[in-house]
Amino acid sequence: MPETIFSKILSGEIPCHKVYEDARVLAFLDINPLAFGHTLVIPKEPAPTMDALSEESAAALGAVLPRLCRAVMEVSGCRHYNLLQNNGAPAHQAVFHVHFHIIPKPSSDEGLGIGWPAGSLEDGAALAERLRNALGA
Ligand code: 5GP
Repeated sequence: MPETIFSKILSGEIPCHKVYEDARVLAFLDINPLAFGHTLVIPKEPAPTMDALSEESAAALGAVLPRLCRAVMEVSGCRHYNLLQNNGAPAHQAVFHVHFHIIPKPSSDEGLGIGWPAGSLEDGAALAERLRNALGA
């Protein structure tokens, strides 16, 4: 996989404000925070997007995310937050190394703003079946 800012942070070539580290995961402060306490959580595995990540790294991320969210809540003083994970440039991914954002939501007009152009579900049974088939279930 090509080098990214985050692989350079993992190798120590670029500094970061580290919040947490274990054998598979690193968490550090976002350099351009959307809100006070905005934290990034990345696997050490160099996967560009979530669909390319191993189950081991995904499990390690999942295991530590609730604890990191609680720490961000405590220090930011925010009861509300968004957990954001972008995949692909049109989906607002800028750094092609899997990462979760933990973004405190201090008020309705601070933190992450989300456009949510909801439609209505058409033929959900067929769609769910296609997805089950894609999963091999
Ligand atoms: P994305 O849009 O890919 O989901 O988010 C990438 C995030 O990485 C952005 O929020 C951006 O501020 C953050 N970021 C980019 N470069 C650096 C850096 O060098 N150090 C840190 N700590 N964060 C960075």
